[in-house]
Amino acid sequence: MATEHVAIVGAGQAAASLALRLRHGGYSGPITMFGEEPYPPYQRPPLSKAYLKRDWSVDRLYLRPEEFWRTQDVRVVREAVVSAIDPASRTLVAGGRTHGWSRLALVTGTRPRPLPVGFAGLRGVHELRDLADADRLQGEIRPGRRLLVLGGGYVGLETAAVAVKAGLEVVVVERAARILERVACAETSAVIRGLHESHGVRIVEGRGVAGVRARDGAIAAVELEGGARLEVDVAVVGIGVQARDELARAAGLACDAGIVVDGFGRTSAPDVWAAGDCATFPLDGQPTRLESVQNAVDQAECVADDMLGRGRIYAPVPWFWSDQYDVKLQIVGLNRGYDAVVPHRSAQGQSHWYFRGDRMIAVDAINDARTYMAAKKMLEGGKGVGRADVAADGFDPVAWLRRPAS
Ligand code: NAP
Repeated sequence: MATEHVAIVGAGQAAASLALRLRHGGYSGPITMFGEEPYPPYQRPPLSKAYLKRDWSVDRLYLRPEEFWRTQDVRVVREAVVSAIDPASRTLVAGGRTHGWSRLALVTGTRPRPLPVGFAGLRGVHELRDLADADRLQGEIRPGRRLLVLGGGYVGLETAAVAVKAGLEVVVVERAARILERVACAETSAVIRGLHESHGVRIVEGRGVAGVRARDGAIAAVELEGGARLEVDVAVVGIGVQARDELARAAGLACDAGIVVDGFGRTSAPDVWAAGDCATFPLDGQPTRLESVQNAVDQAECVADDMLGRGRIYAPVPWFWSDQYDVKLQIVGLNRGYDAVVPHRSAQGQSHWYFRGDRMIAVDAINDARTYMAAKKMLEGGKGVGRADVAADGFDPVAWLRRPAS
């Protein structure tokens, strides 16, 4: 048996959650987190919101102050690229040095999909995944400039909102039939599209970029499929991410668009776990990989519990949120396989309720935190509101939850 040592590859939200849960759960042995970036664990969601707007300083992004990790006796090794893991010898190589471990957690997250042809290597082209990306992009957000946003997902739309408010001219180009297609129904996409258009953002859907023109090594224009040309000073590419599972693959661990784990977060190798954006786990009988803070935190806690000998099956009700202008979009549940959407309006805002048959599986709430909270309680408590209930005049989800059992 190797000397007791929990090694965590990755130093993001899942890593922080895992280390803290181990400490709170009574584990007093060595814990080391290996992170590639020069920062202690920080939150990513504000990178495309408050931090990009310069409302937040970098210190506020840190999940805990730097010195906190020392007080917890958690070693955070920064700028440490882990180049190999070996489950047989229970070692890993970081920055050219070999470290032993007795238990290993892979919380490596995701990386942006490769830039589309023509964009790579040009000045003025940005991705937005980490703090350094956000710092570079901040410097480009200046009034009067023309911003192309490639991809109408969360990164693209949140960036578009910040940029147009800062006085840039913004065009979002989404290759799919509509923005937010990956995560939401057409009704939610329509509300968010209208919101952006009301702020002066142009949204082009169902068209990709056919050609990129550069001047002196900087992006200058793009041609869209179908012929239109857009003059561009700066571009943000937010076209999705892929799981960082290459270390696991090279070590022979089972991977399937992510590191395959069971309900406890265990990989196919003994004493190796994975959690967060990089992990594919069974949910409702389907292999599932979630990209969210909720998943990073909760799945990592589940892994820590398993390491502590208190294993439990991870069976989340996932949730997500996005802030754009003064609108908060909150999503609870997974809408996969839905066959109907029932709209609802309340005094606060509006929501879209997804059904598969008569089973409510997810809700998108737009500026309606009260409805979101009620829907979350319904899903967590297995309380099945029916389609007819939601469609009925005067439906109030909070009152529905409080109704006496029949
Ligand atoms: P995303 O949400 O997957 O959206 C990317 C969008 O770009 C998709 O609609 C995708 O369509 C489209 N696309 C792909 N290739 C394209 C191309 N060549 N031209 C134009 N459009 C293209 O990913 P993201 O916005 O890049 O976000 C990255 C990650 O950060 C995700 O994990 C996301 O959840 C996370 N994030 C979350 C939040 C939040 O929750 N508020 C905020 C920021 C970031 P296809 O699906 O058809 O490929």
